[in-house]
Amino acid sequence: MTATGSLIRNYIGGELVAPGEGATLLDNINPATGKVYSQLVDASEQDLQAAVAAAEDALPGWRAMDITARARHLEKVAELIERDLDKFAAAECEDNGKPLSLARAVDIPRAVDNFRFFARAITQFASESHAMGESAINYTLRSPLGIVGCISPWNLPLYLFTWKIAPALAAGNCVIAKPSEVTPKTAAMLAETCIEAGLPAGVLNILHGRGNTIGSAIVAHPKIKAISFTGGTATGARIAAEAAPQFKKLSLELGGKNPTLVFADCDWEKTLDGVMRSAFANQGQICLCGSRIYVEQSIYADFKAALLQRIAKLRIGDPLTEVDQGALVSEAHMHKVLNAVGTARAEGGQILCGGRQRQVGGRCDDGFFVEPTLIEGLPIGCKTNQQEIFGPVATIQPFESEEEAVQLANGTSYGLATSIWSENLSRSHRIAGRLDFGIVWINCWLQRDLRTPFGGVKNSGVGREGGWEALRFFTEPKNVCIDYG
Ligand code: NAD
Repeated sequence: MTATGSLIRNYIGGELVAPGEGATLLDNINPATGKVYSQLVDASEQDLQAAVAAAEDALPGWRAMDITARARHLEKVAELIERDLDKFAAAECEDNGKPLSLARAVDIPRAVDNFRFFARAITQFASESHAMGESAINYTLRSPLGIVGCISPWNLPLYLFTWKIAPALAAGNCVIAKPSEVTPKTAAMLAETCIEAGLPAGVLNILHGRGNTIGSAIVAHPKIKAISFTGGTATGARIAAEAAPQFKKLSLELGGKNPTLVFADCDWEKTLDGVMRSAFANQGQICLCGSRIYVEQSIYADFKAALLQRIAKLRIGDPLTEVDQGALVSEAHMHKVLNAVGTARAEGGQILCGGRQRQVGGRCDDGFFVEPTLIEGLPIGCKTNQQEIFGPVATIQPFESEEEAVQLANGTSYGLATSIWSENLSRSHRIAGRLDFGIVWINCWLQRDLRTPFGGVKNSGVGREGGWEALRFFTEPKNVCIDYG
């Protein structure tokens, strides 16, 4: 594959398109160094019209294509991403600040899996039929929606971008997709990959740029029939308001404030590993991160001490080296996270460790690094325990009983994911049923099976993605009833 140049361009009608006269260019910054290293086009209304026109042209051929041929196209994209895994991982690391090792082990392999999984899933996707006695039968036709919009965030850039694009394409839709303007690079490389893979022109169009300009225009476009969005809750609310008058189909995967429940009978080492990973993986910038840690009173002091020991051992630094934590995604986000720590202090929280920007030497002198932070002594109702921080910051608090653990866990407006750590499986199952979350992990965290329904309740979103749920979202069911009596 050719290396992406320093200008990130839109991918429209099968081609990388040079920016039009007077186009706005945005800087793209490497968060580990704080330096601008490329620019991207802020797509215009005309770019959107061109992308929609290209998608309209491509749609009849793509939706009518034999399912195995469509699947082969997706398999080919998967194969090429896998071939270029190291280049994609390096780009993700440079764009996002995450450790290269993480991008290599998680982000890019998962993008490969997304294409491969949905290429296979679509060949197994069947619809229902309902016989009415011996005189009539209903069957369900599931047709592609047409042109759909996929909008994704910066924390798991290619991972989440492809999580939407792959099922949308597999189901026979044409796609207008927008990655986060903060991390556009692997999406630009995906465009090059699609060209090399011979994906038919116009089937996938990638527009770069800001959310409140091109993102909002995608949501408002009358020919775009559905929006699959992953991002912040406030943005999700804006998108829902914009899409509602047009009755667009919406899938919203939003923020979280996820609790981790640690019981005295947990497997000590396994739980410590899991709680650490869930609080601090990807610098705490995963919607599923466990940022509220509740520990049963009888082990609270020991567990807290063991956690602090582990935190002290986390290696923070240049994401190109062997580290556990890289940089936060941007300067603005770093300040948001540091301000949240300030709020915790003002609310009376005790900062047990971290809480400051970390100076990392060498090429990373101006990078956006934050120390992993653990805060104690805050009630459930305070801002720190209610608002998503989305950084390496967690609170810790004891609980006395199963009942109290459930109350605390359910005590925010979010409902994305939770984890329970206990060897008492009867209790874990009992609690799982009472927790208001879309995802409950027992003795694990972020153990993902792409067939399962993924999504949140309450302010964490509407709808589910993954497996059949995604293919159902990206298709329109039609009931056909035949009377043969
Ligand atoms: P964000 O909401 O700021 O942006 C997400 C995407 O939406 C970006 O591409 C952005 O350009 C675009 N956008 C912004 N305003 C828009 C508008 N008015 N119309 C259309 N598009 C618009 O989120 P972010 O800061 O990029 O990501 C962090 C958030 O994402 C966190 O809240 C995190 O919890 C959430 N998230 C959720 C999940 C999940 O699966 N539930 C997964 C990852 C991240």
